Amino acid sequence: MHAVVLQGQPRPIPVGKIVCVARNYAEHARELGNPVPDRAVLFIKPASSLLADGGTVIIPAYGSDCHHEIELAVLIGRPGKAIAEAEALGHVAGYGVALDLTLRDVQADLKAKGLPWEIAKAFDTACPLSAFVPAERITDPQHLRLQLRVNGKLRQDGTTAAMLRPVARLLSEASSYFTLEAGDILLTGTPAGVGPLRSGDQVEAVIEGVGRLSVNVR
Ligand code: MG
Repeated sequence: MHAVVLQGQPRPIPVGKIVCVARNYAEHARELGNPVPDRAVLFIKPASSLLADGGTVIIPAYGSDCHHEIELAVLIGRPGKAIAEAEALGHVAGYGVALDLTLRDVQADLKAKGLPWEIAKAFDTACPLSAFVPAERITDPQHLRLQLRVNGKLRQDGTTAAMLRPVARLLSEASSYFTLEAGDILLTGTPAGVGPLRSGDQVEAVIEGVGRLSVNVR
């Protein structure tokens, strides 16, 4: 069973699907040469891609350019379909720190061919996740600083204020396509500064007020 810890809860919460959004920060869309989309670009990672804090990322042999993407993770507590934006934050149980690890070379090849990206995004260990803090502890999810360091060097430094679609809008839009269930997780996109990880790297991701996540790369 793949589960996450929500602080204050007696037992881990089983995870369903992990809905992710691409290109949700304009500077990151630009650094990859992608236009900013009219409709949210969504994809799903399976629960089998989860890696707990302190774990080891295993880069699959078929990829050679595994990129880090720090992202604010949102844990769904109350299910919903076609959730109104004004109601959306009421469905959130907690917030955490995630990495949306991406085999950039594999993804670029699949994108060029017009094929789905799953094998670039959904491999085992592709979704490291911290413990979650209860939603009521986060007064404004759109004013959180995100920082990612590799071997102590700052690689990503952004703020959730720069999201093109804020958390409430993403939840509303995602739930127009898929029912969001308790235990589902939304990853909200990454700011600029993505880059490659190599075997032996140590990654530390911090979101101010939310938590921290450390993983090793094998
Ligand atoms: Mg991402």
